[in-house]
Amino acid sequence: MNGTAHMLIGAGVGFVAANSYQTDPAGTLIFVGVGTLAGLMPDIDIDGKLTNRITFSYKMIKYITQLIGFLMMLYSYIDGSGKEKWLGIAVGIGILIVSTQITQRRMLTVTGVGVLIGGLSLQEPWLLLLGAFIVIASFVPHRSYTHSLLGLAFFGVIAHLFEQSIGMEGVYKVAVAAYASHLIADMKFLPFNRRGVKLFLPLSSKEI
Ligand SMILES: [Zn+2]
Repeated sequence: MNGTAHMLIGAGVGFVAANSYQTDPAGTLIFVGVGTLAGLMPDIDIDGKLTNRITFSYKMIKYITQLIGFLMMLYSYIDGSGKEKWLGIAVGIGILIVSTQITQRRMLTVTGVGVLIGGLSLQEPWLLLLGAFIVIASFVPHRSYTHSLLGLAFFGVIAHLFEQSIGMEGVYKVAVAAYASHLIADMKFLPFNRRGVKLFLPLSSKEI
């Protein structure tokens, strides 16, 4: 199923929950927002739209990396002497080469590490685990672990800690239900899905 449909289902889950919890308008907005994001979260493993939106601007990072490589070469050339000079230039060239090789997926890895460090410095366990979730998602194949019960359980822990952190009852349930709705909407019993989801990874890689 496509991203827009997942997003709408997630938002719907948030809206229904907001009604049953009788939230105020701000609370409704939070529920719908959490539902929307959680409904999209499993597809963070795609090299596509969602990844593009979540990662830092790909081009910008690339230019900054290239600038650092270039400055490193220039600085070493002007200021360095002997071995140091050539080592600095070599490292500068290395950085320039890496900057042309970096992929969208590795950008997602870098973003995940950034979120993880943010969680560490803010001492927010949910943010730290979310960073870990993003890093792992950047390495696994599409529709694998993020679309499994294990992924759902991991996300559930993040959602539980998030609810504790903001102190708003119901957020955990919305997040888990919206995430689960994504897995169900990607299952093979629905006629528009050619592939199913490997729900029981790593125990079984059968598509359901
Ligand atoms: Zn999906």
